[in-house]
Amino acid sequence: MIVVLRPDATEADLEQVVAKITALGLTPHVSRGVRRTVVGCIGDEDRLREVPMLSFPAVETVLPVGKPYKLAAREFAAAETRVALHATDPTGAGLGRGGLPAVGDGAVHVIAGPCSVESRDVLLAAARAAREAGAVALRGGAFKPRTSPYAFRGLGREALTYLAEARQRMGLPVVTEVLDTRQVSLVAEAADVLQIGARNMQNFPLLSEVGDCGKPVLLKRGLSATLEEFLLAAEYILARGNRQVILCERGIRTFERALRFSLDTGAIPFLKRETHLPVLVDPSHAAGRRDLVGPIALAAVAAGADGLLVEIHPDPDRARSDGDQSLPLPAFAELMERVRAVAGALGRIVAAPRATPEPAPGAPAALGAPAS
Ligand code: PEP
Ligand code: MN
Repeated sequence: MIVVLRPDATEADLEQVVAKITALGLTPHVSRGVRRTVVGCIGDEDRLREVPMLSFPAVETVLPVGKPYKLAAREFAAAETRVALHATDPTGAGLGRGGLPAVGDGAVHVIAGPCSVESRDVLLAAARAAREAGAVALRGGAFKPRTSPYAFRGLGREALTYLAEARQRMGLPVVTEVLDTRQVSLVAEAADVLQIGARNMQNFPLLSEVGDCGKPVLLKRGLSATLEEFLLAAEYILARGNRQVILCERGIRTFERALRFSLDTGAIPFLKRETHLPVLVDPSHAAGRRDLVGPIALAAVAAGADGLLVEIHPDPDRARSDGDQSLPLPAFAELMERVRAVAGALGRIVAAPRATPEPAPGAPAALGAPAS
């Protein structure tokens, strides 16, 4: 149930409504928009029927939410959710003049980096290229979910130190996957955004744990998850009080085997209508092959995605994971140009990274080309 307050409702009115909802044994979730404040109520909604909420002069209307997800439902929020990627300033040099990028602010936000953090040099080369081409954040897996236990499963803690260095030197916030409840605090210390991979979308203890971590969460759609299941997975995180959730469509499993997965393009406008949460698209895992990443990425932008998550690599043929679908660095720069063109045609802009970070004291003024 959602209690919508009148535009002229005061803080005292809001407090009174919240107190009443709490007294009924329900949990209130306040969402403030520019024009209106709404209070979502979670719990036994029948209790609400016992009290005529409309008798409060500040209450305009009370609406039922006929969806299994509540906090994720569009009606539950008075405004679009915007998720700032910079949890803190990674350079320590103060906030950029342009302010913080926030996924969901209407601009196209591109996050790029290697599938996994394979070495310091590969990561720094990818991070530099990502930044130069206009990515606003760096991705890279330290802990990798692999179908085979014998495949490269990431450098673990060592990778987190490389991510921290790349974050500091390039001034890019870092997105990295957390696989296990036992790693959440470790990963949350190094990352600006915690990624929940497709294979863990319904790992409910993990969802609750990242709901408590205080950092934004990038939640990928499960390989065979319906959109309702996807939003209910987001609900687990939101229900812990973490409202900084970014959804990511990355392709689902269908009868079609020509591509690695089938990007569900229709999910993008559906989710944008159904929820207030921002929606990213990962064209890399959907395509499974380099030559199709660009067209799929452009289709996602045209369909209204809030941004992209793209795998790039300085030498994709030698990558230790997902090389087939990783763009070489020049191809990524070209893709960014085309993303700008498509976004521009739709009256949107592509978010830019913050001003070039100052080199740390004692650090070289510019990074040299890494050894391969
Ligand atoms: C990844 O982003 O590298 C990844 C493993 O993605 P997904 O969980 O979507 O397969
Ligand atoms: Mn990958």
